[in-house]
Formats: sequence, structure tokens, C-alpha cells
Amino acid sequence: LVRLRARLSRSQSVFGRGLLSVLSRDHLDEDAWEEIEDSLISADVGVEASQVLVERLRERVRVLGTRTVAEVRAQLAEELTAALEPELDRSLKTAPHDGRPAVVLVVGVNGAGKTTTCGKIARVLVADGRTVLLGAADTFRAAAAEQLATWGERVGAETVRGPEGGDPASVAFDAVKRGIDVGVDTVLIDTAGRLQNKIGLMDELGKVKRVVEKHGTVDETLLILDATTGQNGLEQARVFTEAVEVTGVVLTKLDGTAKGGIVIAVQRKLGIPVKLVGLGEGPDDLAPFEPAAFVEALLG
Ligand code: GDP
Repeated sequence: LVRLRARLSRSQSVFGRGLLSVLSRDHLDEDAWEEIEDSLISADVGVEASQVLVERLRERVRVLGTRTVAEVRAQLAEELTAALEPELDRSLKTAPHDGRPAVVLVVGVNGAGKTTTCGKIARVLVADGRTVLLGAADTFRAAAAEQLATWGERVGAETVRGPEGGDPASVAFDAVKRGIDVGVDTVLIDTAGRLQNKIGLMDELGKVKRVVEKHGTVDETLLILDATTGQNGLEQARVFTEAVEVTGVVLTKLDGTAKGGIVIAVQRKLGIPVKLVGLGEGPDDLAPFEPAAFVEALLG
């Protein structure tokens, strides 16, 4: 929690402090409630979700006759946590089964942090005693395969790559086949993130998926979302969720935004659990997403 709080300090500076100063007023009048709503909106919670949250908070405060800042803050924390659906299953499906490795597809637009996140996840798994193989199916971005292979070397995972500009599905096929032959626990496949039209994206990701399924199953499809792109990023995310069955979201670059409330918007709009958060560029800057701890860090 301390680390999360330190990393989210920018989010907190806008969100938490702004809110606390409103909450510390003697009377929570109409203006105060509006300010609370505005600060939720400016933290990227989303207009509709902010309205709903403030409405619910007002009702709680009215029913409980709550007065102190600490009490109102606690009520807000409860509402924010509830909006994040704390009961959702956020575990990563990375365990081998039926004598085959688990396969994880990593999708998202270019620059969102796919390659970096593949590296970080591999590191966590290896540290946990698992064997991992990386598949560099992002054959469109020139440096992507190189970057992934560097992560592989760093964490101790083999990387399967194809020719630059080659067919992503064939790299995915080779990676899974190699993973089965070598007997690794998990194959992580980094895909290309060209945001072309939806049909093109569906075709490409569909092909990768079909090819993998010749060998077994896709156990997890993680959508990587850059938190700094806010509500725009959310619109792009929708294209991916329509193109492929996404099972979890990784929200990256939360360290670089004052708008940590985007987590609430993502969870609400996409209806897919946020499973991990990226808190920096380093190998250890990845954390499981825990709603209550996140809200505590956000409110500061
Ligand atoms: P890809 O095109 O989706 O594979 O994106 P990359 O993995 O190459 O990441 C794009 C840039 O974002 C790189 O400079 C990464 O170091 C950076 N990045 C990725 N995740 C994070 C994060 O959680 N925090 C910060 N600050 N930077 C990140």
C-alpha cells in the first residue's frame, strides 16, 4: 500500500487533496457536492459514474447523519470500492493444464505497454518458480521483437520470434509449439497493436487465436490500456473487446497520470476485471489490482 501510494502520488495530489478540502467544510451544501462530482470527473471516473457515486454518497450521508470529514471520506471509499466490484475474480490463468502450457495473449494499441507488460509478467512468473516462453508476434513494430527478447534474457525466458513484417499468427503458432516441446508452464504472446479498422483487427487477432487453438486453448487474453489516454483510450479499448474475448485488463502508466479514477471508468464501461496495474517502466513496477487498497491510495 505504501508503494502504491507513493507511485500514485500524482493521482492523489489532484483527487485526494481536492476532495478532502471540500469534505472539510462545515456544511456540505449544493456547491460542495458539485465540487466533489467535478473532482471525480476530472480524475477520469467518467461523468455518469461520478453522478451516480455522488448521488449514493449524498444518500449515505443523509441516512447516517454523518458529519466528520473522516466519516464522509470512509463512506466515499466504500462507494468507490463497491464501484470497482471487489468480488470479481482477478487471478491470472497462467497455470499449465492437460500437460500443456497455459497461453496468454497480450493485446492493445501500440505504445500502451504490451511488450513491457509481457516482460514484467514473465518476471513475476519466473520469480514464482514457473517456466515461461515469450512469443514475439508483434512483427509490425520494428523494435518490438528485439525489446521482448531483451526482457526474455533479463528474466530468463526463451523468446520465439519471426521475420520482421512476418505473419503474427505463424509466430504465435511456433511459440506455442515450442512451449509444448520444451514443456514450459506459460506461453506469453505479444501481439501487434496496429489500430486499423475493426475488421482488420478482428481478422488478425482471430487468426492468432485460431492458430493457438490448434494446439490447445487461449487461457487468458489481456488488454493493455494506457491510463494516461483517459476516456479516449476507453473508446479504443472497446474495439478490442469487440474483436476478441478479453478476459482481463492491465492498466499501465498509472504512475504518470493525475487521473487514477480511470480504473473505475474502465471497470464500469468494459465490464471486464482490471487484473494488474503498471506503475512504472522498471521490471518490478507491476502490481495486482486490489480495489480497496487502490481506493485508499487514491484518496491519500
Ligand atoms: P507496446 O507498443 O504496447 O508494446 O508498448 P511498450 O511496451 O513498448 O511501452 C511503450 C512505452 O511505455 C515504453 O517506453 C515503456 O517503458 C512505457 N511503459 C510501459 N508501461 C509503463 C508503466 O506502467 N509506467 C510508465 N511510466 N511507463 C510505462
